[in-house]
Amino acid sequence: KACITEQEDKVKVISEGQAKIIVRGQSKVFYNPVQEFNRDISVAILNLIAEDVLNEQIAKNETSKPSFRILEALSATGLRSIRYAKEISGVTEVIANDLSKHAVEMIRQNVQDNKIESVVTPNHADATLFMHQHRNEFDAIDLDPFGCPSIFLDSAVQSVKNGGVLLVTATDMAVLAGNSAETCFVKYGAVSLRSKCCHEIGLRILLQCISSHANRYGKYIEPLFSMSADFYVRVAVKVRNGANKCKYTTSKLSMVYQCVGCGTFTLQPLGNCQEREKGGPKFSVAHGPTVNSSCEHCGHRHHVGGPIWTGPLYAQQFLLRLANWPGLDALGTAKRIRGIVTVMGEELDTPLYYTVDQLCSLLRVEAIPTITIRSAILNAGFKVSYSHCKSTSLKTDAPASVVWDVMRAW
Ligand code: SAM
Repeated sequence: KACITEQEDKVKVISEGQAKIIVRGQSKVFYNPVQEFNRDISVAILNLIAEDVLNEQIAKNETSKPSFRILEALSATGLRSIRYAKEISGVTEVIANDLSKHAVEMIRQNVQDNKIESVVTPNHADATLFMHQHRNEFDAIDLDPFGCPSIFLDSAVQSVKNGGVLLVTATDMAVLAGNSAETCFVKYGAVSLRSKCCHEIGLRILLQCISSHANRYGKYIEPLFSMSADFYVRVAVKVRNGANKCKYTTSKLSMVYQCVGCGTFTLQPLGNCQEREKGGPKFSVAHGPTVNSSCEHCGHRHHVGGPIWTGPLYAQQFLLRLANWPGLDALGTAKRIRGIVTVMGEELDTPLYYTVDQLCSLLRVEAIPTITIRSAILNAGFKVSYSHCKSTSLKTDAPASVVWDVMRAW
């Protein structure tokens, strides 16, 4: 587990993973101990990515010396970069960048103290400019800003190599979770909704935003890992070149219609593209289900949100590898990682969820045990699962009418 010890001269010594860094008492450079979980997961994810990239280079005999280069665009103390350098096997270079001169001085000191100068390069630049100047260069780019990451996305999708990975955190959960739908549209290009499943909507808005930036450059995304935890969301997506594949993006985006009365949500896909097995890809715009202006279950109006990403949140094979990664137990938050990855692995690939408290309070019935509702839906021939975003969540592929029938039958 991470540990912080404060010495008499107000110098904080922080030990996390294999890194030990020093933060002076008066320092304004950002360090958040709660983010250890975020950093641990990133270490695990990047170990798997590095393994794939290095193996691919060796198989293709691309370069005489295999390389794996990471850019931490917003590095603050350098802790994350130092951990990446020390804990990711095969990593050849980590650039620890920050706009603050003071932060970069601290990074330089911490890199020296950790004797990792041969791998970590401190860099003082505006991240957007730096990434624009280094196109197609990095195997992985980590964006961990204060609040919203959207201003960094345009340059990040260009700076990452074809097949490379972007790891992105967003901490402006109030915006993503519907407290300011207009601000969300301004920042992310999607309208957020106040909803019981607002955390998953927030995750899917972030993915939609990254995807739209990638598409502008003929690139598309494949989410490997998407997480809502504590006060933030975090995703890891592969970015690949493929102007033709970009046309399939509309079929991975939907508008969300949420009833103001009963909270039932209906998704309207923006496109319906089928990739034909033979004869090449076919692209056609077809319209999703039409949504009546009033809710079919209770007659109320709808709030409209989105577009949200309604493609998969995870690569299931990748989750499996993450859960079985041999280095996991050495991480301070291994138990929590194992728990969340297990729930993710069992999650249905069906966007959004109900919550049991929402369903019960709407029908003004006493709390029905979750297991009872789940069994009834299963008996009706549909699937159910939890979402890692909320412990009382109920994810199902059953139509809303089935869920309400089950609830009314109680
Ligand atoms: N990744 C760090 C970690 O894991 O501890 C925390 C990063 S902190 C939340 C955000 C950092 O971004 C701050 O140190 C800030 O100085 C830096 N920053 C803000 N705008 C920037 C920009 N345009 N270019 C580079 N760094 C920037």
